[in-house]
Amino acid sequence: MENKTCIAMVPSPALSHLIPHVEFAKQLVQQHHDLHVIFLIPTLGSISPSTEAILNTLPPNINFIILPQVNNIQHLPQNIHPATKMKLIVKHSIPFLHDALQSLLSRTHIVALVLCIFATDALEVAKQLNLLSYVFFASGATTLSMCLSLPKFDESVSSEFLDLSQTVNVPGCVTPFQVKDLPDPCLCERSSETYRSFISICQTLWLVDGVIVNSFTDLEAEVIRELTNGDNPCVYSVGPIIQTESSSKVNKSTCMTWLENQSPSSVLYVSFGSGGTLSHDQFNELAFGLELSGHKFLWVVRAPNEIAYSAYLDGQKEDPLEYLPNGFLDRTKGKGLMVPSWAPQIEVLGHGSIGGFLSHCGWSSILESVVHGVPMIAWPLFAEQRMNAALLTNGLKVAVRPKVDESGLVKREEVAKVIKRIMELGDERLEMRERMKELSVGADAALGEHGSSKRALSSLALKWRNC
Ligand code: UDP
Repeated sequence: MENKTCIAMVPSPALSHLIPHVEFAKQLVQQHHDLHVIFLIPTLGSISPSTEAILNTLPPNINFIILPQVNNIQHLPQNIHPATKMKLIVKHSIPFLHDALQSLLSRTHIVALVLCIFATDALEVAKQLNLLSYVFFASGATTLSMCLSLPKFDESVSSEFLDLSQTVNVPGCVTPFQVKDLPDPCLCERSSETYRSFISICQTLWLVDGVIVNSFTDLEAEVIRELTNGDNPCVYSVGPIIQTESSSKVNKSTCMTWLENQSPSSVLYVSFGSGGTLSHDQFNELAFGLELSGHKFLWVVRAPNEIAYSAYLDGQKEDPLEYLPNGFLDRTKGKGLMVPSWAPQIEVLGHGSIGGFLSHCGWSSILESVVHGVPMIAWPLFAEQRMNAALLTNGLKVAVRPKVDESGLVKREEVAKVIKRIMELGDERLEMRERMKELSVGADAALGEHGSSKRALSSLALKWRNC
């Protein structure tokens, strides 16, 4: 490590953010043997077993340091938005980060600091220590383009975003976005801390030496072209970066054994990411809708909660299966498999019996579905997921999005309807599958020998090596 060029990476303390950071680091050192990566990980409490499992299987040219726990922000409000919480944890870890880097610099040739989007406060450390600075943007190029254009848009409007009557144009996107589909902070009052802090992240994107985005040309062609050619920071599109194997083996044999006994493309996989939850009423409507559809399903069940991100950073302790409607388990015997809280998603999506994915539209879930050519039901919950859902449905046309009624619910009949649209034979399903297949081929090509993502990663490595 001493003689090698080293890149320091600061992920935020969320498992689903750590995963793409680690996968990016693995690709970097695998393709460029002379580079070394060290993770500096901010923490609030002790690290979770799932995080530990990932860190303990890192290859020899990737190291990690767990920064001391921040203990002056223990009593945060229970419903604090995960983005705000992650940003606060990083902010309070900055002195530890500074000390750790300074100590490493005395014996290691660190040239760049790569920050998670919620770790942009650490840019000041990069400047102080004279390091190049980058943001690893774990979502798509569309959201990145929106974030880069937001500071100007913020100056140009005076009302709250939700009061705007017009749609919002994102540079490089043909179809404009509905205001209600913008990321969560844009729907908050503009004087709020959540909104101001989001704007400050977006402004920081203009100050770094480059932004590394987890996307690829065929998925977001126009936006990537706009980002890489226009008057923007240096953007490196290096995706799709996804896991090849699930980091956690929880429920693996149950899921895989059950899938083995199902017919090809016959099962709908239902999952809301690493911590998404549905309200009690919505949970029931989904359960009855799955039953009503008559199709087979594998549902990663999480206990309902009125806050959609309730299990995002802290997980759940209760048994979610206890919340299923009376008699549901009996009535769906042989039709559905319910697993509590977690499934080995990458293996599930790669199984031939999966025919569709009802997803909360987290970016990693989307990339994993694309790589495996699985059409989706777009059911966004929070963060930038509504923008991702709009991209999948209006832009790429590889997903269907259920209608939400006046009470804010997707009713059981609507659930059954969208399931039938993607699971039953017909032109719509066929076309979605064809388009997904094309994207999957495009994903392969982007990472292949002369692929756009591979070239982008090489130019980044060259820049770092020449420092
Ligand atoms: N994941 C998994 N099993 C689950 C739920 C999630 O393996 O039951 C993984 C999934 O494969 C993905 C990540 O967790 O890599 C979720 O990331 P995403 O960006 O989709 O959503 P987030 O969790 O950030 O909302």
